[in-house]
Amino acid sequence: MPSNIKAIGLLSGGLDSVLALKLIKDQNVEVIAVHLLLPFADDKRDYATHLASQLSIPLIKVTAAEDYIELVRHPSHGRGSGMNPCIDCRIYMLCQSWQVAQQIGAHFLITGDVLGQRPMSQHRGKLAVEEKESGLEKLILRPLSSKLLPKTFPEEEGWVDRERLLALEGRSRKPQLALAREFGIQGYRMPGGGCLLTNKEISFRLRELFRRQQVVTEKDIALLKIGRHFFLPEAHIIVGRDERENHQLMELRQPDDRVFEVVGYPGPTTILRGAKTKKAVEFATQLTARYCKQDSPVQHADNSVISSQVNLSPENQ
Ligand code: SF4
Repeated sequence: MPSNIKAIGLLSGGLDSVLALKLIKDQNVEVIAVHLLLPFADDKRDYATHLASQLSIPLIKVTAAEDYIELVRHPSHGRGSGMNPCIDCRIYMLCQSWQVAQQIGAHFLITGDVLGQRPMSQHRGKLAVEEKESGLEKLILRPLSSKLLPKTFPEEEGWVDRERLLALEGRSRKPQLALAREFGIQGYRMPGGGCLLTNKEISFRLRELFRRQQVVTEKDIALLKIGRHFFLPEAHIIVGRDERENHQLMELRQPDDRVFEVVGYPGPTTILRGAKTKKAVEFATQLTARYCKQDSPVQHADNSVISSQVNLSPENQ
């Protein structure tokens, strides 16, 4: 095998992607990992850094730009169970990774796709669509299922030995777990249902946001991930659930947001965004009192005490 071949491996932090990179690295290909930082990712830990260091390969992190948010708003290939536009998202990740590949002179991409593992995106037809629309036909190697898929350019050129690749298919993860044990790979993200866009509650909030705002920024997205959310026709109210979220709300607030806090007692920070109608202000005040630890007066941003009511109708979320 030639020793000057480079490949970019998409490293999500899950087991499949790290195994795919390992299989190709073991074929004397120089592998560089790319991890996409997506606005709706739900990682509690930096799995990608941990896994790249186990394979002793460099890792490049690429932050998705605001065009990703537009892609979520207007996907070309539909959505999954929530707002998740998986096919468009995967094409986006392939294109971003290929840009890195071109910058560093890499010859092809590696992904951890397993045929038939995810019904919406990992079957032959969709994989072909992703290749075509990213302009990467025959340049995406999927080592875990290669023997079940058409030959790619790296295999045809002899950069990679197809015989040493795998033929995994379906949802069972037993073969991957066995390989992880064999390779001594640990600390990968457990398989889950996808990013936050698959979450029902987040999807509801995002749909509302898209309906209300022509332009949605990364800060707006960050706000969606925290607090309790209440939507009135004219306003959006967010109530912090703990001290950390209260701080985050203050960091994410906009100049024309109105802030509510509790006087002299532990309680939430509440943000009122949109029209400050009497009804919206009263509702924000009531919510702040409702989620306060004790019955206490609520303070407006101008320091006037405006309410101590605690009886509320159920949340409208
Ligand atoms: S689950 Fe989320 S991150 Fe994964 S492909 Fe779908 S939209 Fe993209």
